[in-house]
Amino acid sequence: MSEHQNEAQRLIELEDRYSAHNYHPLDVMLDRAEGIWLWDTAGKKYMDGLAAYSAVNQGHNHPRIVEAMQDQLSRMSLTSRAFRNDRFGPLCEKICTLLGYDKVLMMNSGAEAVETAIKAARRWGYDRKGIPDGEAEILVFDGNFHGRTTTIVGFSTDEGSRRGFGPFTPGFRILPYGDLDAVAAAIGAKTAAVLVEPIQGEGGVIIPPEGFLEGLRSLCDEHRALLICDEIQAGLGRAGHWLAHHRAGIRADAVTIGKALSGGLYPVSGFLADDDVMSVFDAGSHGSTFGGNPLACAVAEAALAVIEHEKLCERSQRLGTRFLEELRQQDLPVIEELRGAGLWIGIQLREDAGGARRFSEALQDKGLLLKETHVHTLRFVPPLVISDAELEHALGLIVDVLS
Ligand SMILES: *Cc1c(COP(=O)(O)O)cnc(C)c1O
Repeated sequence: MSEHQNEAQRLIELEDRYSAHNYHPLDVMLDRAEGIWLWDTAGKKYMDGLAAYSAVNQGHNHPRIVEAMQDQLSRMSLTSRAFRNDRFGPLCEKICTLLGYDKVLMMNSGAEAVETAIKAARRWGYDRKGIPDGEAEILVFDGNFHGRTTTIVGFSTDEGSRRGFGPFTPGFRILPYGDLDAVAAAIGAKTAAVLVEPIQGEGGVIIPPEGFLEGLRSLCDEHRALLICDEIQAGLGRAGHWLAHHRAGIRADAVTIGKALSGGLYPVSGFLADDDVMSVFDAGSHGSTFGGNPLACAVAEAALAVIEHEKLCERSQRLGTRFLEELRQQDLPVIEELRGAGLWIGIQLREDAGGARRFSEALQDKGLLLKETHVHTLRFVPPLVISDAELEHALGLIVDVLS
């Protein structure tokens, strides 16, 4: 073994010895990143095909975001919302203007934004819709991923995420994703909200059937329930739009955003809604020590400006369509189904292909890092700043390994 391999092995052992084993990472020891590229401790270069689950849509260490962060870091990073800070108002204005909502409530992790959505929906259900106290219901879908808090995993259908963590928060009903009849049967006077991913990311890039989101919109209108889209992974360019549910030509009553909201430099998330919903929050009803801090605001403002100025939504749309077409033309026998929206590609492998993991390991050898989701799905989710030639290169590697 080389000196570098020994060092990487030592670091893996440290991690295994001292960290909880709550992930199953590829054994690649990274120490540097730039744009779409990652380097391991031996200096080997890899293309990033995961983009930190879409948190680095703008590419790693985007110079404009780094500069905004460094500049803010040298001035002020945390005041708490007990005082006002000069970066907060401008960021809230930018988010609301870009995404088309009256107000935003800033948090840090994605799960916190979803928790905020749940609280907003419940209080709105009691205060505005008149649901009897303690009886509000939120409709959710199987195969969902909304984060890792105890409330959220309580309505997950992934056994590994739930086992041993109960008792869980009541008030959620899990329906089959894509099944409007099931929603029509479940929705009613006690329904505060329908919480849905417009495309299921962790579920394996699952695109709902034609008409599903439109149908949810009509049912929510009919029964006066809030339609809340979790756009934490799907939004901010990944699916080819600022918000993925716009693909269906509808507007959700509220959305959660996170991940690419910071371009990967810092955890920043938000819950957006119009005044009718957001006004359920009064002083003391919700908050976070770090939520809306000046450093987060500076980073998020720059991260959004990059998506805007580099036209990453359009880019995602164009490159994603091309990638999907070209991969489809290859007609590879190991592929059961190809799914995609923007530069967000799910490659469903045949069950007899031996699982996705061996393909991600083979691609790692060839210099492309991506991650399987579930046993038989590979996903290709590069930073949206990838060039046409680089995308062509990635396609070649993927075809090579799957042939
Ligand atoms: C990643 C993700 C979350 C959770 O975000 P964290 O920052 O990991 O808490 C919630 N919803 C969706 C759709 C996600 O992809």
